[in-house]
Amino acid sequence: MDTHSKAGHLTTLTVNLTKREEKQIRTVPFHVEPNLEAIRISMKVAASRSPSTIDLGLRDPRGTRGWSGGARSQIVIREETATPGYLPGSLEAGDWAVLLGVYEVPAEGASVELEIEQVLPLPRWIGGDLHSHTVHSDGAFTVDEAANRAQSAGLAFLALTDHNTYSQNLGYPRDTRVLFVPGMELTTYSGHVNLLGVPQPVDDFRVASQADLTHHLKIAQERGALISVNHPFETECSSCAWRWDWDPGPNMDWDAVEVWNGPWREANVLALAWWQSELESGRRRVAIGGSDTHSLENPHIRHGWPTTWVYANRCRRDAILRAIRQGRVFLSYAPSGPTIDLSCGAYRMGDVVPTAETESVTVVAKRLQPDDEIRIVTDRGITQRTLVGLEEVAVDKRIQRHDARFCRVEIWRQFPDVQRRLLAAMSNPLYFGETWGTP
Ligand SMILES: [Zn+2]
Repeated sequence: MDTHSKAGHLTTLTVNLTKREEKQIRTVPFHVEPNLEAIRISMKVAASRSPSTIDLGLRDPRGTRGWSGGARSQIVIREETATPGYLPGSLEAGDWAVLLGVYEVPAEGASVELEIEQVLPLPRWIGGDLHSHTVHSDGAFTVDEAANRAQSAGLAFLALTDHNTYSQNLGYPRDTRVLFVPGMELTTYSGHVNLLGVPQPVDDFRVASQADLTHHLKIAQERGALISVNHPFETECSSCAWRWDWDPGPNMDWDAVEVWNGPWREANVLALAWWQSELESGRRRVAIGGSDTHSLENPHIRHGWPTTWVYANRCRRDAILRAIRQGRVFLSYAPSGPTIDLSCGAYRMGDVVPTAETESVTVVAKRLQPDDEIRIVTDRGITQRTLVGLEEVAVDKRIQRHDARFCRVEIWRQFPDVQRRLLAAMSNPLYFGETWGTP
């Protein structure tokens, strides 16, 4: 039976295996469509009086793609991750096959139900953490432990941004659903920069002058790294605040700035105010977040606190990085925190809405709590505050543009454990006007 939907193509097959096939491998062919995000296969052996043991494997058009014997009944394959025992890589269209090893079946045979799901890419919000440390620098977690913690927090991706090294990027664990984004925190005594997306972004980390910094950043940029200034206004560490030039060098600019680092505190208040003034002056800067988790020492520093959400059509490194560069990003204080979507007609945060567009701006916020405060911020500051009602867990509101040059959303929440109203989520801006943009 075949079912087609916007999300993909589901085939359900019943395969009857006979006693005579025991100790042989049955090939069950299926056809793979082009442009998939994932292939999911699950196998269920129908209950009978005597048990069966059926092994599972997969073949792609080139050869066997993996084998899990009797150890698994489910497989997921993507381009950059796959169930252990199977190879990630191209999901090329063509003739694939499920391999069923008939290890043991009763005299009357066995009936196996196979579900083959071909998952199409579908634009959606994907959450992860872009800043974390492991034993490869001064963190307490091994890479496996970091992956486990990120996975149980519900994160889809994690960047391991150890200080001035990339040994953490050479060989990620495979028995996790978390997608690793290669990272390195270029750490100088006058500020820190995250280089994301390439395993070895620089050849040397030593920075003694502005020229050294520009030189390294140029190399990272040429290799395709996304460059973000981290915790630029850090107050609790003498070498962490940004003291280099805000101009990274000729023909270069920052791809993003870590406006929200770890728990909401003074350094983030200053970063948010700076970001707002940058936006007001006409610079379109992408705000991202990072937990900067090193260990379990501080109970308020955990993977995904805050979470950076990107609007991408697949959970793949290039799609995640592209979404960040486009500003299709919002941040929430935790993976379970509020979500924000901001649009105007067909345009979404990060986009520039042409002046001729007549639609009003739509804000959709979810996972709200009573008394959350939604702030609409433009180049004139906070233009609207709304308190969420007792029953509301989601709002869908339309606001007029008021000739603003940009519009963004913040959600503030009273957190009982610290008895303070803190930022719970923030969006990147939706910009207005064709020509505006260069300061
Ligand atoms: Zn740092």
